Amino acid sequence: MSVTESIHIDGEWRTAAGGGTRDVLDPADATTLAVVAEGDAKDTDAAIAAARRAFDEGTWPHTATAERAALLRRVADLLQRDREEIALIESRDTGKTLEEGRVDVDDVTAAFRYFADLVVNETGRVVDAGDPDVHSVVVHEPVGVCAMITPWNYPLLQASWKVAPALAAGNTFVIKPSEVTPMSTVHLVKLLAEAGLPAGVANLVTGAGDPVGARLSEHPDVDLVSFTGGLASGTKVAQAAAPGVKKVALELGGKNPNVVFADACATDEGFDTAVDQALNAAFIHSGQVCSAGARLIIEASVKDRFVAELAERARKIRLGRGTADGVECGPLVSRQQLEKTEGYVASAREEGATVVCGGARPEPSEVRPAEGYFYLPTVLDDCHRGMRVIREETFGPILTVETFTTEDEAVALANDTDYGLAGGVFSGDTARARRVAARLRHGTVWINDFHPYLPQAEWGGFGKSGVGRELGPHGLAEYRETKHVYENLRPTPVRWFAG
Ligand code: NAD
Repeated sequence: MSVTESIHIDGEWRTAAGGGTRDVLDPADATTLAVVAEGDAKDTDAAIAAARRAFDEGTWPHTATAERAALLRRVADLLQRDREEIALIESRDTGKTLEEGRVDVDDVTAAFRYFADLVVNETGRVVDAGDPDVHSVVVHEPVGVCAMITPWNYPLLQASWKVAPALAAGNTFVIKPSEVTPMSTVHLVKLLAEAGLPAGVANLVTGAGDPVGARLSEHPDVDLVSFTGGLASGTKVAQAAAPGVKKVALELGGKNPNVVFADACATDEGFDTAVDQALNAAFIHSGQVCSAGARLIIEASVKDRFVAELAERARKIRLGRGTADGVECGPLVSRQQLEKTEGYVASAREEGATVVCGGARPEPSEVRPAEGYFYLPTVLDDCHRGMRVIREETFGPILTVETFTTEDEAVALANDTDYGLAGGVFSGDTARARRVAARLRHGTVWINDFHPYLPQAEWGGFGKSGVGRELGPHGLAEYRETKHVYENLRPTPVRWFAG
């Protein structure tokens, strides 16, 4: 298989300077999908230099906002033109179903359009200084060279939540996708060039976290690092960026509670909705979602009935290759993730959890090759706060069950985590649902729903789930410096110093 020129520097596609390559695997059968360039620190330095030149000497930072917005809209159109192709790339690379891939493309298109609209509206402001001799304005300017480091679960989406606002604001950038799933980012960068972005503004280096991500985080010519990924890598990024006092945005993991009150299950319809949503919260994309509702925190009186129905439905989830017809859930992304999942289930068993369903790899079938990284949706009952599976993000198809009897207890359990990314509350009592939502220490709280997000609304975490926000006005502000220009209309000596 020939090597894909997956490194993009100063408008040119190339292989790695050092000749390194990496096989990108199909998680459904472990075959090689593509061989891409494995960049190193030398490629990274070249990409940063190109982004630096494009920022310091190029036209993009000074291009009129309306023109930058128009480019973003062209990118959105191109994403829609290539919708099927990109969905297929994403499905084969990550294992997710084709339909999930299509949803990702649509979400990303909406994000490009949103930031195009936002940037022309989020203008600076004239400040009333209260002095007729002073003219004062606050304006926004791009931050400079941005480094973007993304994970493997939503490669196109995570890239776009950074790329769209960064470009809208007039920055240049170097992006490093996860080495496990680089293909949709390569396609996205091709679309940026096709839409007319000047050479050097968007640069891409494929390769490992260390050296490529590490170099991006520490390099003195990088002004901002925006990272999405796990807590361990995010901490290293923050440490590497600290000596240069770079701006750092971190979107990290989560251990997300789904709190279900008995009153949500009072009617058959309510019960069915709460079970269905709990299933979706935990098992979509095999639980490889930062906001996965992996902790079911349920009122004790309805637990047995709820868990029995949930397990019944979890057993029916059709697992298989994401591109196969009728498949509802794909494999885990890599052997490493599969083994990690097995490790969590083993440790939960040792710590006293009851495996209600799953807890093993499935039997191979026509749509589930034996070499694929499949794992059955797993429900673990009898879990408690002390367990590793409750405290750590498993990032696999594992749903744990804990019970409560009072509202206070439910809130205490839901907040008992180092993370704070997202959580859900299901209740038939609106006042209670809102009371609980107000007390949850999580960046997104869903009431009677789980997972939806809006490009207009900020996304990010409390606690160890991160620093900063993506999407919404705050998501654009991350990529802008704010400058106050104070103008004296009647300059005279100050005479602070007498001599
Ligand atoms: P990861 O931390 O292993 O890798 C993320 C990225 O960081 C990859 O590109 C990787 O190559 C790079 N990296 C690794 N070591 C690095 C280093 N020392 N310096 C710089 N970069 C380095 O995470 P992952 O396994 O790819 O993704 C899963 C994690 O991402 C989960 O914890 C998940 O919760 C998190 N995530 C968070 C969000 C969010 O919005 N908060 C969204 C998606 C995923």
